[in-house]
Amino acid sequence: MRLQTEWQDLAVGLLKDLIRIDTSNPPGNEEPACEVAAEALAAHGVEPRLFRPAPGRANLTARVRGDGSLPPLLLAAHLDVVPAEPAAWTHPPFSAAEADGCIWGRGALDMKHMAAMATAVLCRLGRERPAMRRDVILALVADEEVGMELGSRWLVDHEPDEVRAGVALGEIGGISMGLAGRRLYPLQVAEKGIAWLLLTAHGAAGHGSIPDPESATVRLARAVAALGETPLPPHPTPAARAFAAAALDALRPGLRIAAPLLAGDAGARLLRRAGRKSAIGRAVGAMLANTAAPTCLRAGSSTNVIPAEATAEVDGRTLPGQTAGDLVREVRAIVGDGVEIAVRQEAPPVSAPLDHPFVSLARRVLAAHDAEGRLVPALTPGFTDAKSWSRLGAACYGFTPVRLPEGFPAFSTLIHGVDERIPIEGFRWGVGVLADLVESWAAQEHAP
Ligand SMILES: [Zn+2]
Repeated sequence: MRLQTEWQDLAVGLLKDLIRIDTSNPPGNEEPACEVAAEALAAHGVEPRLFRPAPGRANLTARVRGDGSLPPLLLAAHLDVVPAEPAAWTHPPFSAAEADGCIWGRGALDMKHMAAMATAVLCRLGRERPAMRRDVILALVADEEVGMELGSRWLVDHEPDEVRAGVALGEIGGISMGLAGRRLYPLQVAEKGIAWLLLTAHGAAGHGSIPDPESATVRLARAVAALGETPLPPHPTPAARAFAAAALDALRPGLRIAAPLLAGDAGARLLRRAGRKSAIGRAVGAMLANTAAPTCLRAGSSTNVIPAEATAEVDGRTLPGQTAGDLVREVRAIVGDGVEIAVRQEAPPVSAPLDHPFVSLARRVLAAHDAEGRLVPALTPGFTDAKSWSRLGAACYGFTPVRLPEGFPAFSTLIHGVDERIPIEGFRWGVGVLADLVESWAAQEHAP
């Protein structure tokens, strides 16, 4: 018990220190944050390595060795955060203020909490040296918020042996959410791919005094409006089906039988149509279909000149099992032939097995720490460092355990928003869950 408290205290201290280092990206400035973690690790007999891909930017790796008979476990967290506008915050975003039972600050949930708890877990392994069948690796990385180039992607490209693992544990799951009085803990098993598109419309240039219904601007506007208003067809994935089943089961066990219907094609269509106007409905919709959100529009430079070209950037996201080509076909069916569609940037979706022994272990460990909590598989529509770790063959799961008290704002409204904060009790609880999960998995026999 005394030890448990010691490691929780260490994690709380690390979290505050990390929040106080402004790692807003751009510019990032993750190096001093790496140094905070490095110092703690070294003090507990774990030798960290720092990699500096650019001035001020750094990635840290550290490893506690097992007997090597099973593939390593990677614990991963990004150290950069999105910018914060201090004027809007109750407590300054880089102060790590302690108030109302919470630690406040940018990165408290996205995701310096995981950096702190994973570092504390490595420190504990370093000090106690339990018998382990696999190495446990820590990777604290730069640059996740703007595309991973100097962080996880850099490590995978330049130092793959540092981070190669059988299972990689990172964001976004593990933070409890309330649903009809039940406490659900999402376990992220999949994330969507990226397929950023450019739509281009051409037309005759001309004088603004003589309107043309087929001008580039008008054609592009028609395409963008159609794309914004028409849902893409559903493709229920195993992750979405499992989420629907588990959520229904948590709500009312008898309803579980309806889950396959709900996550099937017709059900998915219905759900999406019903939910398009609410935030939660749109979030569920994004789990069930590819999406294409028009974002940046460009045309013309003068009010009285009709331009010959107009373009729209479209943030496209693809489900596991879908390609950028599939998305282009779906977008084409909506916008017609009047605009060109080009893929500007793409990254494939990521998904990990639902029936992996790591998932069963996570379920058992969670049950031991929160008898009323339930683990539910989930798919995130965003991207995470799992995009990189999966390239080295890791099964990537998102689980950074935090127990939020009843009535606490939803995780999704706090990250990237104002007043990001983490309840201290729920964070300390999470350190215990992560420590158990890591130690059990590292010691486990007969597991891949
Ligand atoms: Zn994040």
